[in-house]
This record gives sequence, C-alpha cells and structure tokens, in this order.
Amino acid sequence: MLPLPVFQHHSPTSLVEALALLVRLGDAARLVAGGTDLLPNMKHGLVEPEHLVSLSRVDGLASIAVSDTHVELGAMTKLADIAAHPEVGRHAPALAEATGAVGGPHHRRMGTLGGNVCLDTRCVYYNQTYFWREALGFCLKKDGSACHVVASGKNCVAAASNDSGPALIALAAELELASPSGTRSVPAAEFYTPDGLANTVKRADEILTRVRVPRVVGRKSAFEKLRRRGAIDYPLLNAAARVDRTSDGSIASVEVVVSALAARPKRVKPTRPLVGNVAAEALVASYVEAAYKQCRPLTNLDNDTDWRRDMVRVVVERALRRAAAVD
Ligand SMILES: Cc1cc2nc3c(=O)[nH]c(=O)nc-3n(C[C@H](O)[C@H](O)[C@H](O)COP(=O)(O)OP(=O)(O)OC[C@H]3O[C@@H](n4cnc5c(N)ncnc54)[C@H](O)[C@@H]3O)c2cc1C
Ligand code: SF4
Repeated sequence: MLPLPVFQHHSPTSLVEALALLVRLGDAARLVAGGTDLLPNMKHGLVEPEHLVSLSRVDGLASIAVSDTHVELGAMTKLADIAAHPEVGRHAPALAEATGAVGGPHHRRMGTLGGNVCLDTRCVYYNQTYFWREALGFCLKKDGSACHVVASGKNCVAAASNDSGPALIALAAELELASPSGTRSVPAAEFYTPDGLANTVKRADEILTRVRVPRVVGRKSAFEKLRRRGAIDYPLLNAAARVDRTSDGSIASVEVVVSALAARPKRVKPTRPLVGNVAAEALVASYVEAAYKQCRPLTNLDNDTDWRRDMVRVVVERALRRAAAVD
C-alpha cells in the first residue's frame, strides 16, 4: 500500500476564508473536495502539496437549485446526488448520466462536481508510482523533459478524463469562479485548454463555486462512455450530445462533444450545416462520420488506439441517437 505523504490540513468554513488561505499559502497549497482523485495522486507522488485547503465545511457550496431558466449546482454537490436528482435528469440528462458514470458508487458518494470538473488530466505514462515513472526517465508532466506519447513533442497531451466535462460543454453550461478580486463566469466550452500539464483556464487563486446549466424548451441530451470495466473505470472515450428542436420539431442546434482523447474535449464540427428539417438518421450519420474524421485517440491511455478510434463512431452514434430522438 502506498503511504500518503505528510501535509497540513485546513478546514475553512467560508469562501472568503478559503480564498484567503489560497493566497497566503500560494503554490504550497491545493484545494481538496472529495479527495477521490487528489489523494491517490499524492500517494503516487504526482502532486506534493504541503497544505490541503478543504472545501467540505465551506458553507453554501453543496446545493441543487432549479429555476425556470437554469439548473444551478454548487461545486461541492456530490456526484451521486446529481445523478439521482429527478430535475437534473429531466432538464440536463447528459449531466445526470455523466455524473452517474463516474468511477464506482464510493467515488460518486465522495466525489464532487467541482472536483470532477477540475480533474487532472491522465496518461498511462504519468498515473504510475514514482518508481515506475523513474524507470522510464519520467516525462514532461512531472520530473522529466520528454513526452512518451508524442516523442518529438514539446507539449503534454495527457487526456481529459472527467465525465462531466463533455456533458457540460454540450449543455452550454457556465462555470462560476471565485477569487479574492471577485467572481467571473466562464462558458464550459472555454474552460478547457489543450495543455495536458494544466488543462483549464482556472487560476491557482480561484475556486469553482457553481455550475449553471440552462433549461431550454425542446432540448434533449445524452451521454455515453467507453471504459474497461463498467463498474468503476475512467473513460477510454466519452461523448455527450445535445439537440435543440423548435416547436414544429425541426432542428435549431446540435452539439456533440467527445473526450478522453487529449487535454481538451473535442467539439465535433459537422461537415455541413445541420439545422431545419433534417431527419434524425441523416443527422446521426453526418456527425458520426465527422467525429470519426476529427477524433484521433493517442497512446496516452492504456488501450488500442485503432479500436478506440473505431469506437468513436459507436459512442457518438449512441449518444446522438438518444438526443435526436423525436417524441
Ligand atoms: C478508481 C477510480 C476510478 C475513477 N473513475 C472516474 C471516472 O470514471 N470518471 C471520472 O470523471 N473520474 C473518475 N475518478 C476520479 C474522481 O473520483 C472523480 O473525478 C471525482 O469527481 C473527483 O472529485 P473529488 O471531489 O473527489 O475531487 P478531488 O480529488 O478532491 O479534487 C480533484 C481536483 O480538483 C480540484 N478541485 C476540487 N474542487 C475544486 C473546486 N471547487 N474549485 C477548484 N478546484 C477544485 C482539486 O484541487 C484537485 O486538483 C476515479 C477515481 C478513482 C480513484
Ligand atoms: S502525454 Fe507525454 S508529457 Fe503528458 S503525461 Fe503523457 S507522457 Fe507525460
């Protein structure tokens, strides 16, 4: 069993106090929510914070509120609560399905939405013990200078491995970030970057506090995932699809997002505009081919890349068929 390194634990009870701690402790501190990813990563020596600032006692961060316009979720809301919430299931099914597909039951009961949105990228050459990584000469993401996935690469292409990411992008969610200088709202589609070292625009002094998912009449969404073991594993691929229809049933807009490829979830671009009176079959066929052309899995995850590429068609088709289904 790998030991957990020594660290100092802080338990602020307000957001102001948590933000002040982040400023005071600087690079030596990390936020911890459910700890289901951060603590294993600390055991592997991937992150070495001297201080953990826990959000678990901060007031007002664990909530689900449904208004006429939005579903609003606090960052400390447990994944299991989101997955089981009937209103989330009704208005944002892709998110309910994505949160319900994270890890196993214990991860979903401990893990939070904020921790999932801010999850570190993963790579088969990185998520290993210190000795394993040392034997390989480490890599760019931690302690080394080379990438084992793209041999001549200067950038890390570790994979975004959170299930909520593609769902929140597909649903056009907004993420609220608080810092000592105020709050800002970032569209989920602009939150992730292609840099596997740190794949979000969140600054070290910011805390994700809230996620707002718009409620849209005529909207359907769905999430699909490929993983080694259905009971527990991180995604080898995941896809979220969202289709908005007007009152006469024609298509107003579509979004398809595929992830677990590289550091930033991929928004699939259709080869031709697909709005108006488009048959569901034509819509699905067009996006499936576009996704296959645009999504090229890398050797960053421990599985056959050709098979994962073929499976892009399958996960996209499954998600989009459900999102495009006519009542
Ligand atoms: C065996 C196993 C299987 C797993 N399978 C999956 C899977 O299938 N899909 C998946 O998505 N994840 C999976 N996970 C990862 C993890 O359990 C989930 O992603 C979980 O949602 C993380 O949430 P947490 O609250 O535990 O985050 P933590 O571990 O506490 O934090 C994760 C990261 O987010 C940061 N953070 C946390 N909250 C905030 C906030 N409010 N603002 C800013 N930064 C914040 C932390 O500093 C840390 O860097 C798995 C983990 C394990 C161990
Ligand atoms: S993609 Fe390359 S640099 Fe990034 S974690 Fe993997 S091996 Fe390391």
